[in-house]
Amino acid sequence: MDGNAPDPKYWEKMRLVAEVLKAVEGPIYIATHVDPDGDAIGSSLGLYRALKALGKEAYWVADPPRFLRFLPKEEEYSDPVEKLPVGATLVALDSAEPSRVVGVPVEGFVINIDHHGTNPRFGHIAVVDPSKAATAQMVKDLIDLLGVEWTAEIATPVLTGILTDTGNFRFANTTPEVLRVAAELLGYGVKLAELTDRLQFRPPSYFRLMGKVLSTVAFHFGGLLVTAHLPEDAGAEEDSDDFVGLIRYVEGSVVSVFLRKREEGVKVSIRSRGGVSAQNIALKLGGGGHVPAAGATLKGLDLDQAYERVLEAVAEELRRAGYL
Ligand code: 5GP
Ligand code: MN
Repeated sequence: MDGNAPDPKYWEKMRLVAEVLKAVEGPIYIATHVDPDGDAIGSSLGLYRALKALGKEAYWVADPPRFLRFLPKEEEYSDPVEKLPVGATLVALDSAEPSRVVGVPVEGFVINIDHHGTNPRFGHIAVVDPSKAATAQMVKDLIDLLGVEWTAEIATPVLTGILTDTGNFRFANTTPEVLRVAAELLGYGVKLAELTDRLQFRPPSYFRLMGKVLSTVAFHFGGLLVTAHLPEDAGAEEDSDDFVGLIRYVEGSVVSVFLRKREEGVKVSIRSRGGVSAQNIALKLGGGGHVPAAGATLKGLDLDQAYERVLEAVAEELRRAGYL
């Protein structure tokens, strides 16, 4: 089976998820992936608010990064839990693997809603549809099925997930359907200009860091690959989320990779175009993701070793795609 194919039973399964969530009396835990992005936070906060509007006992276990912390109120997110109570339901959102779910153990009745082609379809109900631009787009359908009345408070995080995963409607996943959904959400009172402006805010330290990161930019394979990394003495890891989004626009490049050394290894963020699959590269490195945007963590390696592995994996994919 092609992991990137749409889910043929999408509506049937989503209806089942809505029925289960409406029927359960026990607590519902909502969690998302480690290093949460706009889609992770937006889809999970949107569903949390919708379930609260239904009067459900719901918990949103999350640690939003600084640039997204303006979206929730502090009392809306809960600390990590080690054990779920008996009878709990867990909704894992935007999480490509059970091991990427953060803050909760993957146990109880597990509902997996995601759009990563590499998702192994874990859980008791897995709605995994890589044809969706964002998990937030799937949560939009789920909230409709739950019959919750739309408000700006629910629509704003959901639209945030769609905005961030489509690069503000610039990426190839921006279908007419995505724009229709976005238009509908906007109609519920989302303040778009304020939201997109706020999503780009970064602290002064970020801009100083950008200078250091850009001084590491390097070109490989005649400029087909562009790389950069977080210098080890730079600090401020929290602000380094979207540098790959900057270097991917080097003219003539078809792959970009940003590397960050962490305690457990080196985290790589990969973006691609022109028939090259970031997903294939990530899979070779033990990670996963989408065809144009994927990632992996190279455990136990230092930066130099990680660069070596990345260059090998990219070369292999460039050969497959006919560039080398
Ligand atoms: P980013 O580079 O922004 O961290 O991630 C790009 C995409 O790949 C995101 O959709 C993210 O969820 C996914 N991704 C990043 N790292 C990993 C990983 O280690 N494993 C898997 N399966 N997916 C990843
Ligand atoms: Mn996503």
